[in-house]
Amino acid sequence: MLSPSLEDYLEEIYRLSLWKDKIRVTDIANQLNVSLPSVVNALKKLNNENYICYEPHSEITLTREGKKLGKLLVKRNAMLQDFLKTINSNCDIAKEAEAMEHYLSSSTILAIERLLKFLKSKPIKSMFAQQNKPNAKKHWSKDIESL
Ligand code: MN
Repeated sequence: MLSPSLEDYLEEIYRLSLWKDKIRVTDIANQLNVSLPSVVNALKKLNNENYICYEPHSEITLTREGKKLGKLLVKRNAMLQDFLKTINSNCDIAKEAEAMEHYLSSSTILAIERLLKFLKSKPIKSMFAQQNKPNAKKHWSKDIESL
């Protein structure tokens, strides 16, 4: 099992692999806003786990397993962002999907995916069409007092 941090590295490497011929340490550092030594450290671990092939100063390539898991990680993140948009949450979508993705069990992730399909069916969609904008000055608990 990869740590949340290593999952994020693999997710980003897969994303980069979709449009870049050569993935460099600096690409990943820029994308995730982390230091070069942190990236190198993560790459060594992903290499040991056989998700990528990495040697210092050579290009980074994904293994078959790395591609498979990377694709799933990107899909999971996109699905959770889609879910938050679909329920019209006024949260920071990227940040909140990021918070959810590593901490929910695969069972819950799959259930959310099924729920999302349901919510996207037409009659249900309209129920979630409107929501009041949260008031930034109020404590968040005031926004959910009507629960
Ligand atoms: Mn993440």
